[in-house]
Amino acid sequence: MKPFSYERASGVAAACASAAEPTAKFIAGGTNLIDLMKLQIETPAHLVDIGALPLGDIEETQNGGLRIGALVTNSALAADMRVRRRYPLLSQAVLAGASTQLRNKATTGGNLLQRTRCPYFYDTSKPCNKRVPGSGCAAMAGFNRMNAVLDVSDNCIAAHASDMAVAMTALDAQIETVARDGTARTIPIDALYRAPADTPHIETVLAPGELIRSVRLPPPPPGRQVYRKVRDRASFAFALVSAAVVLATDNGRVRAARVAFGGLSYKPWRSADAEAALSGATLTRASYDAAGTAALKSAHGYGHNDFKIPLAQRTLRAALAEATGTI
Ligand code: SF4
Repeated sequence: MKPFSYERASGVAAACASAAEPTAKFIAGGTNLIDLMKLQIETPAHLVDIGALPLGDIEETQNGGLRIGALVTNSALAADMRVRRRYPLLSQAVLAGASTQLRNKATTGGNLLQRTRCPYFYDTSKPCNKRVPGSGCAAMAGFNRMNAVLDVSDNCIAAHASDMAVAMTALDAQIETVARDGTARTIPIDALYRAPADTPHIETVLAPGELIRSVRLPPPPPGRQVYRKVRDRASFAFALVSAAVVLATDNGRVRAARVAFGGLSYKPWRSADAEAALSGATLTRASYDAAGTAALKSAHGYGHNDFKIPLAQRTLRAALAEATGTI
């Protein structure tokens, strides 16, 4: 690990000012950043510890939603009774991620900003445009089983690793930030992440020093909520594919549907195509399969990850069947 200086921030404004320096980084739980620093993939000269800031609460909002502080741990989020009752999808997704020990340390803000688990990103002997811009992409012709199949570029096919963010995407979460100059803004979660294009090392729209303060959940949408994750082992593994579904039905037909996938793209993938296919559809396997076909129509495999396309379709079918109580 390279030497670095450390500062325990006493206020949001001071934290943002310190972290705006080009070689500085925020740290909270550190469950991803510390690993990356040990490998010298991340080499900040200065760490701004935001762990003491008052961002650790979950509050009701005036319209019946919840505001989740950026420092709420994954464990606290998943266990909160308001989350479990009104947003079970979110609780399920958080509990599907990592391990108990990691969830006790990992925070809401950090989970959103975790880096990819593409194996070549972590292998400093291999080219990686995300780690070293312009060096190439070893995953493109390499062992890309975990990589993405939707809306990526020839410069990077990394998949986003979060389960929590997939559920939040289906729930239309809003990310609340504060900038170095004190300006607050709200970013729909779907607009937080940048497509890799030719700058895959720039992953979000956040400015230097801009801090995620909280995540605002709108009132829960009508319908049943299901999170289904497919992975190589039953615990402590990233998703090959996951599907978050919110489904409201009426007289044997879909009244409203929300669908988001994990493991398929550089961000949690909200599928307007699947939702359109489900609108008014009958609760049948044919309808679920039509939604899966629509969701993956623009997908492109890179060899080892071709299987993700039919797997995502089957995962969506299973999640929809679970949401309608037909399995
Ligand atoms: Fe690096 Fe992205 Fe290629 Fe993985 S997919 S090697 S993260 S550039």
